[in-house]
Amino acid sequence: MALITKAPRGTADVLPAESYKWQHVEQTALSIARDFGYREMRTPVFEHTELFQRSVGETTDVVQKEMYTFEDKGGRSVTLRPEGTAGMARALLEHSLHNDALPAKVAYLTSCYRYEKPQAGRLREFHQFGVECFGAAPPQADAEIIALARTILETLGVTGVSLHINSIGCPSCRARYHTALKAYFEVRRDELCGTCQDRLDRNPMRILDCKSPACADIAKGAPVMLDYLCDDCAAHFEGVRACLTAAEIPFEIDTRIVRGLDYYTRTVFEFISDALGAQATVCGGGRYDGLTKELGGPELPSLGFAMGLERLLMILEAKGTSIPAPPRPELYLAPMGPDAVRECFAMASRLREGGVSVEFDIAGRGLKAQMKYADKLGARYVIVVGDNELAQKQGRLKDMASGAEEPIALDDSLYTTLYQKSLDRQLAGMADLFGEELADGLEK
Ligand code: ATP
Ligand code: MG
Repeated sequence: MALITKAPRGTADVLPAESYKWQHVEQTALSIARDFGYREMRTPVFEHTELFQRSVGETTDVVQKEMYTFEDKGGRSVTLRPEGTAGMARALLEHSLHNDALPAKVAYLTSCYRYEKPQAGRLREFHQFGVECFGAAPPQADAEIIALARTILETLGVTGVSLHINSIGCPSCRARYHTALKAYFEVRRDELCGTCQDRLDRNPMRILDCKSPACADIAKGAPVMLDYLCDDCAAHFEGVRACLTAAEIPFEIDTRIVRGLDYYTRTVFEFISDALGAQATVCGGGRYDGLTKELGGPELPSLGFAMGLERLLMILEAKGTSIPAPPRPELYLAPMGPDAVRECFAMASRLREGGVSVEFDIAGRGLKAQMKYADKLGARYVIVVGDNELAQKQGRLKDMASGAEEPIALDDSLYTTLYQKSLDRQLAGMADLFGEELADGLEK
């Protein structure tokens, strides 16, 4: 039989040797979000197609070209989520979370699906960490969410990213801007790509987000939204900038940022990396005051952002940023003979109940092969348990790094001994750390 050993194009496996990096990024993001008051919410991987058509928008690349849409066996049209916000907003409204205290703050980790041309930093299945804040109108809410994204990136040690912000106004001031944009693009209609010719009639601002080089080139001289903001939108944008400045969060105003999804209003922002080439945006977000109403709920001024986790990990990799290594097994128990197998199994069980990471031979191998395996696992200590050791309840604890051995009792004191050793190591680690800091302090 032929092997099926090729994953679909645009997907990637996370292998055991790499998964700790994902866990580190995910746990860090969730825990910082928690400090900012965001609790995790989980929604289904597929939703009614209409949800994305109505929220993401009919004239966007995502809806027009990229969605994984299919009919299920009941004849309903469903779509694998191309992004996280629509599902979050749907769930908020469905469960009336907005009737509890506002703002309602939620965070998510999700896989997303977009039929795009796979390349570095662009997959068909990719992963996002995101947050949504429902029911917060003033500009300090925008600044806070930007600060949250920045704190996550900084805590992870992401370097070489810059914050770009823009305002795309509200529906009323955007109408005037649309007129100006239409007039600008109309003269060069024939040079635009087919999709953008259609957008020119339906939603000219989308042309600014087109990836085709010809359209991007024409868009360079287009009028900018900031010149068309109404007084309220201008004051809001000023408020966001003032908060960022007060908190010493550096940013640049970038009029090219319009964001790829229709639901955005007013503030939009992106964190752009110098390490990602063409796929440079690692985090994008903004305000979407019209979304909940668009979905049939009450009007809730809201905002959020999403980070692309593959791109985030690519930056960490490119910059050589260290990610805490996964814990190694503390102990490998090497049984010799059937009695020792049972005894080691019982010992391992007790130690594991106490939270010690222990491995023991479940492959029935000889001592040499076991030692090789223990070494490969990176086990800190090994105890070989044979009939002699069992009879005397006494073995030798081998330190795999130094090769040093010491006698160790094979009874309940084993747990305390191992625990004490791990405490000693932590203390030594802390002394190293504070010693360094002290040295640094003395130098200054
Ligand atoms: P791009 O302009 O790169 O296509 P986008 O505007 O379509 O991005 P968003 O919808 O804002 O992206 O999604 C938020 C983040 O998710 C992006 O900033 C990026 O980091 C990540 N992302 C988006 N699409 C992909 C993809 N196909 N593969 C990997 N990551 C992606
Ligand atoms: Mg895109």
